Amino acid sequence: MNTYTYKCLDCKNVFGIMATIEEKEGGISEKFICPKCHSKNTKQEFSAGNFIKNVFKSNDKGGCGSGNNNGGCCG
Ligand SMILES: [Zn+2]
Repeated sequence: MNTYTYKCLDCKNVFGIMATIEEKEGGISEKFICPKCHSKNTKQEFSAGNFIKNVFKSNDKGGCGSGNNNGGCCG
């Protein structure tokens, strides 16, 4: 199961979807519908790393550099 970032071309909403490679490659478009406006006109987005981190809070250890804490790096 991977997380993919998709962008809705209709309302510009960016959202994350958890799906298997088979679902993605197989074009199971039902899963890749915009949760905001329910449009199927979505496209995979490759450059929204920070956004996804906010949506899916996982057990991501590290991320903030240890020791050099100037604050703010965790947003
Ligand atoms: Zn939308």
